[in-house]
Amino acid sequence: MRLPWRDEAASAITLVLMVVVAGALLGHFLLALSISLLVYLGWHLRNVVSLLQWMEAGMQAPPPTLYGVWGRLLGYLLALRARSRKRKRKVSRFLRRFQEAAAALPDAALILGRYGEIEWCNPAARKWLGLGTGRVAGRFFTHLVRHPVLIQYLEAADYSHPVEIPAPVDESRLLACQIHHIGKKHQRLLMLRDVTQSHLLNQVRRDFVANVSHELRTPITVLRGFLETMEEDAAVECPHWGRSIELMSQQTSRMERIVNELLMLSRLDLEEPSDQPGTEPVPVPELIAVIVQDARMLSGECGHSFHLEVNAECWLRGSAEELRSAFSNLVFNAVQHTPAGSHIDVTWQITEGGEAVFSVADNGEGIPERHLPRLTERFYRVDKARSRSRGGTGLGLAIVHRVLLRHGATLEVQSELGQGTRFTCRFSGEVVYQRMRYCAEDHDEAPHDEE
Ligand code: ATP
Ligand code: MG
Repeated sequence: MRLPWRDEAASAITLVLMVVVAGALLGHFLLALSISLLVYLGWHLRNVVSLLQWMEAGMQAPPPTLYGVWGRLLGYLLALRARSRKRKRKVSRFLRRFQEAAAALPDAALILGRYGEIEWCNPAARKWLGLGTGRVAGRFFTHLVRHPVLIQYLEAADYSHPVEIPAPVDESRLLACQIHHIGKKHQRLLMLRDVTQSHLLNQVRRDFVANVSHELRTPITVLRGFLETMEEDAAVECPHWGRSIELMSQQTSRMERIVNELLMLSRLDLEEPSDQPGTEPVPVPELIAVIVQDARMLSGECGHSFHLEVNAECWLRGSAEELRSAFSNLVFNAVQHTPAGSHIDVTWQITEGGEAVFSVADNGEGIPERHLPRLTERFYRVDKARSRSRGGTGLGLAIVHRVLLRHGATLEVQSELGQGTRFTCRFSGEVVYQRMRYCAEDHDEAPHDEE
């Protein structure tokens, strides 16, 4: 690399040497040396002063005319300034675009600093949260927006799910709030989305299903009653109607099940996922015993074999009715969707981590992998024709999913074609209720535990 001071140093040394040699020839060596060094120093000082003056004036005025090393230095400075101006222009263009985009966003967005102070917000956030037009940067968010649910959400460390709150300025507007961590300085991005419309639509859909199911209940019950009477009469008076009446009876029973399951789903839908399903201690081991007994009857001549492994001390806190519905669906599925003679394992255990795990495993045909993520959708059946012929409506696993959600539990499905399927429900330690603890703590309130 060519260093700028080299030429300069070479020409300065040559000049000083020439003056010194001329002085020496004239007999004034020291005088010539001093004069030449003084002149050289003076030239440098003049350059330094004019460069400093120009820089102190903000580098806006035309630059001074400098030669040699100072000229080059000035050249580098000018190039640096041009580069930084270009970068600045680029950054401000980007900032302008970002601000325009943020202003056009239909959703409200706020950036909160480490201590919950507002760093930035878009116009929608001002409008929906009633922040006004004044300066909000630097003010604490919780001093301006005081909704308890939102404050609780902000203080919690778990932002995996959004929370819904009515907009502070307009109660009829429902906002879904979700926080995301951003940056390295513990900043948070708070996004608020208007979900009023989708909430209303969901409500209409739920009400419609609930109303239709409710309205269908009475005619189906009447039909069923008549069919039962006709079945008895037909057996004696017109036997050729027997098969038709039997089919009508089967279909009526099916409709009745669909209606009941839809009503149960509607009821579960009405509850918020965060609502506690109840705190009654549920004797899960007894529940499982009854379910397996029913499953044996359901299997009938198909001769499924069952193997049970149940921790008799492990109970849950929750709704007995909902848990019975969820567990029975999994066990009945293992009977209904596997060939005759299949083997079914039902286990109820506590893990070392304190979780309670209910699992139903069969050695049936298994479920192709592509269907697994959709199994808990309403009316989703792997093999529609076969499932229908077995009386399945495809609502069972949707109920299981919803019930587990309400009990803070998760559902896992593992399946291998030709090998079988395992459904596993995991309940966190919070809802687990061990009977030994129960007897020790609440002895007076639980006489039925004494047996
Ligand atoms: P129902 O509403 O009466 O429970 P269903 O049993 O058909 O009807 P789900 O319980 O939701 O509905 O099950 C959905 C589908 O998943 C079933 O139709 C079946 O195809 C498949 N399935 C569920 N359990 C098993 C299993 N153990 N083995 C194979 N397939 C299964
Ligand atoms: Mg089912």
